[in-house]
Amino acid sequence: MSTYLIATTGLTLSQGIRLAYLVAAILFILGLKQLSSPKSARKGNWTAAIGMAIALGASLTDLHPSTIKVVLILVGVIVGTAAGWFSARKVAMTAIPQMVAAFNGVGGGAAALVSIDEYMRVVGGSPAIVSIVTVVFSVVVGSVSFAGSVIAFLKLQEVMSGTPITYPGQRLINASLIVVILAAAVYLVGIHASVPILAAMLVVSVVLGLAFVLPIGGADMPVVISMLNAFTGIAVAASGFAIGNTGLIVGGTLVGASGTLLTKMMSDSMGRNLGNVLFAAVGKVIPGAGTQTDESGEVKSYRSGTAEDIGVLLAYSKKVIIVPGYGLAVAQAQHVARELASTLEKRGVEVTYAIHPVAGRMPGHMNVLLAEADVPYDQLKEMEAVNDDFQFTDVVLVVGANDVVNPAARESKDSPIYGMPILNADRAKNIVFLKRSMRPGFAGIDNQLMYDPKTIMLFGDAKESLTKLVAAVKAG
Ligand code: NDP
Repeated sequence: MSTYLIATTGLTLSQGIRLAYLVAAILFILGLKQLSSPKSARKGNWTAAIGMAIALGASLTDLHPSTIKVVLILVGVIVGTAAGWFSARKVAMTAIPQMVAAFNGVGGGAAALVSIDEYMRVVGGSPAIVSIVTVVFSVVVGSVSFAGSVIAFLKLQEVMSGTPITYPGQRLINASLIVVILAAAVYLVGIHASVPILAAMLVVSVVLGLAFVLPIGGADMPVVISMLNAFTGIAVAASGFAIGNTGLIVGGTLVGASGTLLTKMMSDSMGRNLGNVLFAAVGKVIPGAGTQTDESGEVKSYRSGTAEDIGVLLAYSKKVIIVPGYGLAVAQAQHVARELASTLEKRGVEVTYAIHPVAGRMPGHMNVLLAEADVPYDQLKEMEAVNDDFQFTDVVLVVGANDVVNPAARESKDSPIYGMPILNADRAKNIVFLKRSMRPGFAGIDNQLMYDPKTIMLFGDAKESLTKLVAAVKAG
């Protein structure tokens, strides 16, 4: 192979491998750039995937493994490709966050395992200090990311409750775990190589990952996943340093950097800092939340209507704004929402969609869904562009959304979502909620807007309710 490469290209094998890593790195960066727009996102996935295939090929050429190892690697590649391909094709749009959590956890765990393998290889000799530091770092961060992602996955998949799990002395316990990990790291790096200490450090890191994510509420999981994704990237880059693999260093650094930026952007959109997301236990059940009594114990009343009444209200409006949320995605109601909008437009009603940056369960969730239903791009209005229009709007149709229109974010200093920018749905002349019950949204807090005299509730699955509304508007 080496002689063939020199003869055909004039490059040595090692120069060829380095060139392949460079090409892979360029493709990763191009892929990320293309992923930043819905138009080029599919192409971006392919570009990055081709880069990854080139990096994998270069790594395998670099390994000089025995036949048995080649067989093991091939089995791993085939099983991994099949599992990734199958799950990505099967996954529902609403389950993407948990799939990302699962893939991310696997990545963090793999980085930790690669570093442990490297440690076992070098432990008998006199390894360079930088190699030990990167191994220890990668084992800790990779294990925290693995364990944290497992909890994030279980919460999002609703295998375990999405409400924050808190207990007395929680922060003290977490701080103690960090101190133990630091002490083990100092021992391994500065005093003595020891496989049992490395194993103990791995176990404590896994416990820290579990303990760290348990108290975080389900609504904040996408932010946590993005942060754990950044952790995995950094752990992978560190393992790349440990074993001298350029592909891992470049890929890991890109994931670490983009994950960090995404975490910051998501926290900013919710009007919260990362510390509040990680430590405020938002979503913990607050006494009284989600019930129909207020703080003084008084029973609050709400109005519910029929599709026929609301159909007439919509049909005789001039301006309607649709606010889509997580429930629209669950009900897969995007096509019938567009049908309702078209039916209203035919009657001369002006219809737009107000898109909150964190509506749904992942960034861009609503844009992707509505694009799938061929909603014209110019009807989608971002929060800043639409917020002044609500006061001139006859009807706001809140479809499977809740937290993103909750005025508590603006008015109630005690609310866990206080400070989150919201859509000004409460300023419209009429508000119609399409949801199945009076239950709260993912943040787990009551929404006063549902008890507002201007509000009408239409209970039921969003798709069924919208279908009834289309019929009612046509009949109106
Ligand atoms: P919410 O979770 O606040 O509300 C969704 C509502 O949809 C629920 O109240 C539920 O009510 C209703 N619903 C569920 N299924 C159906 C159905 N089949 N038909 C009709 N209604 C249904 O969602 P929002 O989109 O308003 O807010 C997003 C939340 O997620 C915010 O708290 C945000 O901070 C959080 N978040 C979002 C992130 C992102 O990147 N997008 C990241 C992190 C957090 P009911 O059960 O009564 O039907």
